[in-house]
Amino acid sequence: MAKNNNLTKKIIIALILGLLVGFALNFFAPGLFGIIDPYVLYPLGQLFLKLIKMLVVPLVFVSIVLGVAGLGDPKKLGRIGTKTISYFLVTTTVAIVLAMAVGYMMKPGVNGTFDTEGASYEAAEAPPVIDTLLNIIPTNPIESMTSGNMLQIIAFAVFIGLALAVLGEKTSGVYKIVEQTNEIMMYLVNLVMKVAPYGAFALIASAIGKQGWDAFKVMGMYFTAVMLTLLIHTVVTYGGTVSLLGKMNPIKFFKGFAPAMSVAFSTSSSSATLPVSMDTAQKNLNVPKQVSSFVQPLGATINMDGTAIMQGVATIFIAQVYGVDLSMSQLLMVVLTAVLASIGTAGVPGVGLIMLAMVLKSVNLPVEGIALIIGIDRLLDMTRTAVNITGDAACAVIVAESEKKHVSSNQNSGLSV
Ligand code: ASP
Repeated sequence: MAKNNNLTKKIIIALILGLLVGFALNFFAPGLFGIIDPYVLYPLGQLFLKLIKMLVVPLVFVSIVLGVAGLGDPKKLGRIGTKTISYFLVTTTVAIVLAMAVGYMMKPGVNGTFDTEGASYEAAEAPPVIDTLLNIIPTNPIESMTSGNMLQIIAFAVFIGLALAVLGEKTSGVYKIVEQTNEIMMYLVNLVMKVAPYGAFALIASAIGKQGWDAFKVMGMYFTAVMLTLLIHTVVTYGGTVSLLGKMNPIKFFKGFAPAMSVAFSTSSSSATLPVSMDTAQKNLNVPKQVSSFVQPLGATINMDGTAIMQGVATIFIAQVYGVDLSMSQLLMVVLTAVLASIGTAGVPGVGLIMLAMVLKSVNLPVEGIALIIGIDRLLDMTRTAVNITGDAACAVIVAESEKKHVSSNQNSGLSV
């Protein structure tokens, strides 16, 4: 734990230094930034990012196989699955409603001048919902792994895990191999985390150095509205549910999970942060491996409350800028499509903004509106990614707590709380 605390401190100091250095370079020495960024900051940040990304696919696969196999019986998988998905859906809906309420109260798009004439943005076509659902089952699992299609990898791993659970002794050799592979992955995660402070520093300084402060001045209200909602949702929804349903002191929760949040903040990617978030939840929040390895990879793929919040505020903002009044049924449509859009958002930088097109189209708002907020999205992306993975961890803590009462009836499930 002391070692962990040390690492947390180092990463947080690195984040703050990264912000300061980024702003300072942007403000006072853009020329110097032009030299430092491509030769120092960019390579250092990418090195860290690549090292953790390298572990994501194998880690997700083996940990879900182990998680499902460890659960033992399919009934238990059904129970944990239902609880997890219910928590994800409810909290995401709360997030969007909250975001729209804040959007209406703060009116970020009403005052100020926004250049809607010059705005242009080409939206990609979102696939139909049925296809998205059918696509969860891979036609070629190896291809899913090489292309990093998380939902397909998860689906395949669930099947393999179920088979291992049912076949038991017959496949104990394979189970052992998966278990040992998992050990190797976790060891590597810990190793990579040693360079996390340097990587985080470089990623932040590089992003802020490029972005600077100018974009924030024009978009101040929108920026503040998104940040405020992210904060409220984190403290109230996560803090509240962790304390009421997870029986954990929220301060302990946020403190324990801080290292993962800071890595999410610096990488802007739930998926890249996954190895760290699982490790942190298991070690600092005492979430059993079986629960963490099911809930967190699934959450990093489909549960994005932070993204939903950005989409909610952005929709209201764009409606206000273009002077469109949304009716009640249109607002409900926004809630529905934003839930789907956040589920469909991949856990990589910037995708939430692309998926926003789907929400805007559903209520006939101009997709070009995205061009207005694109400039400021980097820092918001960092923050909402941290919120996205915190929601997964909150869910893991709650599911772990609620599974405690079943432990006695599942002695050999490996759930040791
Ligand atoms: N960057 C976010 C994540 O990885 C997704 C998004 O909102 O763009 O969680």
